[in-house]
Amino acid sequence: MYQVNAKAVFGPEDNFQTTRIERRELQNDDVLIEIKYAGICHSDIHTVRGEWGEVAYPLVPGHEIAGIVSAVGSSVKKYQVGDRVGVGCMVDSCGECQHCKEGEEQYCEGPHGHTGTYAAIDKYGHYTQGGYASHIVVTEAFVVRIPESIPLEKAAPLLCAGITTYSPLNHWHAAGKNVAVVGLGGLGHMAVKIASAMEANVTVLSQTLSKKEDGLNFGAHAYYATSDSETFSQLKNSFDLIINTVSAVLDYDSYLNLLKLDGTLVNVGAPADTASLHISRLISARRSFAGSAIGSIKETQEMLDFCGEHQIMPEIELISADKIDEAYERVLRSDVRYRFVIDTKTI
Ligand code: NAP
Ligand code: ZN
Repeated sequence: MYQVNAKAVFGPEDNFQTTRIERRELQNDDVLIEIKYAGICHSDIHTVRGEWGEVAYPLVPGHEIAGIVSAVGSSVKKYQVGDRVGVGCMVDSCGECQHCKEGEEQYCEGPHGHTGTYAAIDKYGHYTQGGYASHIVVTEAFVVRIPESIPLEKAAPLLCAGITTYSPLNHWHAAGKNVAVVGLGGLGHMAVKIASAMEANVTVLSQTLSKKEDGLNFGAHAYYATSDSETFSQLKNSFDLIINTVSAVLDYDSYLNLLKLDGTLVNVGAPADTASLHISRLISARRSFAGSAIGSIKETQEMLDFCGEHQIMPEIELISADKIDEAYERVLRSDVRYRFVIDTKTI
């Protein structure tokens, strides 16, 4: 066992505290990573606050991990000490179900689904703890390589915000299509950059016009405020694909009306509350209302290589570990430009 430094919450309402957690002894197929940077995802906030269901405390969140390999188990083939690597939202899966065999581990149908990077029980019976820490031990198959052309602090958010937006843009073939991105936060700004690199025609739908200049700089062609009801009449039947990144429930009927015939509204934002919609909005133009979870390990590597090649990187605000609580409050106020990243040497 390794004892490592981490930032944890001890209850849903608590502030972060510095603590020591245990990482398992290296198994043959394990990689020990010295974490350099960890992004703050809105999912961390949903989870630590118990919004998605009960979790055990202390809890160390963090599933946007970038670091350097500092040791490898005896059978590890892909990585060596010194390699630049990343870990995202999963650290394992059953490996035996159809989805795992087809390389879609994020949809693992094993008894517990994929093993989350934090707040999950792994195959050794340990409660997983995430990336707001100095080190992590992860099985080789769930580690990805960070291209040299992406600085580590900018690579971290790609491990969740990057792949979660890349995957549906890829799956629903965004290239050449009219794509709207709802919400210009961590995921949203990556969706705009990636969709634009895929040569989609991108429109941002944000609550206000306050970030319009940024949105256009990230590659959007148009930018509308959803607080203006004109937006919804003006953009009726305009989009082939809408990527909704909003962390709260929306009036989905109004957004469905913006889809063309056969258009799809993909939800990646994961509000805790139940939502409702009028089925007639789907029927009237053969529209689909869909969802998408992160992406596979293979697709995560593909996304990193794509971002490296196209020089697509998140806009980040680097913070020290004593500023995590403040960063959470700012994310909740939609005051994030556009991803907080923790410099883990400050833990
Ligand atoms: P974020 O940085 O907080 O961005 C969310 C954006 O949504 C905000 O910046 C804001 O954009 C907009 N927004 C927030 N509250 C709103 C409201 N009440 N009404 C309308 N718009 C609102 O969060 P994130 O880290 O990008 O994560 C977004 C969501 O995706 C979270 O629910 C997270 O858990 C989920 N997620 C899902 C997956 C997956 O696999 N599906 C993976 C990662 C994250 P504007 O200011 O531009 O309006
Ligand atoms: Zn995330």
